[in-house]
This record gives sequence, C-alpha cells and structure tokens, in this order.
Amino acid sequence: MRDKLYELRRQVEYCTKCKLWKTRNRPVFGEGSEYAEIMLIGLGPGYHENLEGRPFVGAAGKLLDGLLKLSGLERGDVYITNIMKCYLPENKAKEEEIKACTPYLDDQVEIIKPKVIILLGNVATKYIFNKFRLQLAPMRTLHGKFFSVSTLFLQAKVIPMYHPAAALRNPGLKDIVENDWENLDKVRLRKLAMD
Ligand code: URA
Ligand code: SF4
Repeated sequence: MRDKLYELRRQVEYCTKCKLWKTRNRPVFGEGSEYAEIMLIGLGPGYHENLEGRPFVGAAGKLLDGLLKLSGLERGDVYITNIMKCYLPENKAKEEEIKACTPYLDDQVEIIKPKVIILLGNVATKYIFNKFRLQLAPMRTLHGKFFSVSTLFLQAKVIPMYHPAAALRNPGLKDIVENDWENLDKVRLRKLAMD
C-alpha cells in the first residue's frame, strides 16, 4: 500500500494533465497516515499550500485545526487531501480540470479505504456525491449529516461540511460550522469506523 501511495504521489509531482501545472510551485498531494480511518477532502491548494506543498497550512488551515479540536481530533488522526492537487490562483476549478485531477483522489480513496470521509465544501461534496450516486442537495441541508456508501471496495460514512473558508468569509456561519464539528466528536467517529 505504501508503495502505491508513494507511486501516486510521484505521478502527481510530474503531472501535466491540465494547465494548472504551469502555475504551480509544489503540487499538494495530501498528508496523513495511509491507515487513517478519517479522510478530509478540500478543494485545492491556495497561496500558502502551493509554497509548502502541504494541504491546509494557510488561514483556512488554522481554522480547520480549531474545528478538528472541537471534535477531539488532531491532524495526526486524519488524512487530508483535496479535489485538486495544483494551485488554484482564483480558488476555482474548471470542470475539465476536476475531470483531469480526480482520478488521483479516486486512487487515494481506494488505497486508504477510509471509514469516514469528511467533505469540506461544495466542490468536494458534489464530486463525492456524484461518484457514489448520493442525492445531492444544497450545503444548507446536507451539512453535518451522515451518508452511507457501500461499494465493492469501500464501506464508509460520508459527511458534508461547510468549507472552513466559507465560515471565514461569512461570520453568520461560524456558529453553525462550530456546532457541526462539536457534534462530530471523536467517540462517535470511532464508533462509525467500527460499524
Ligand atoms: N483550501 C482547500 O480547500 N484546501 C487547502 O489545502 C487549503 C485551502
Ligand atoms: Fe495534474 Fe491535477 Fe495538477 Fe492538473 S491539477 S496538472 S491534473 S495534478
């Protein structure tokens, strides 16, 4: 397994499948244990992530660390990656770019086989809901809820959440987002992981 994840990381490092490779500094593959039971999926690297080659190290990352804490979680408990692996200068990904990049995410999910997948924001939610044929709805109705996925290679609970950056942009969401993360406490997640 380690070899597979390592090989995939190398492929991403040399990837030129969409034009975002031209403006990246370092691709952001993802980080965490390959044995993590909880996987977080964001949108894609911003300015700081592009410099460091690591996910969620900028302002949204600081907020995410605080939210994880509300659930009793730390970075070491989770594997964090994104829909897109290269810097998104305008924080937006085009459909064709998502199409080009998500086979990497598909492989990461297949290798890590998380028991719980936390979707950070609308783009990750749309992609994963479509992939597993779940009924998509606006984030205001999906956030914090648990959905079951059962396929030949994956048994998992999927949980859509507002993107931490959305909470930064919209102070009215702050309480809702914090409440969602408090409700996701570690004991509950552990139980889900063992189901
Ligand atoms: N926002 C994301 O969606 N992902 C990151 O890695 C950083 C910010
Ligand atoms: Fe390749 Fe994804 Fe980077 Fe595009 S964003 S160049 S598909 S790794």
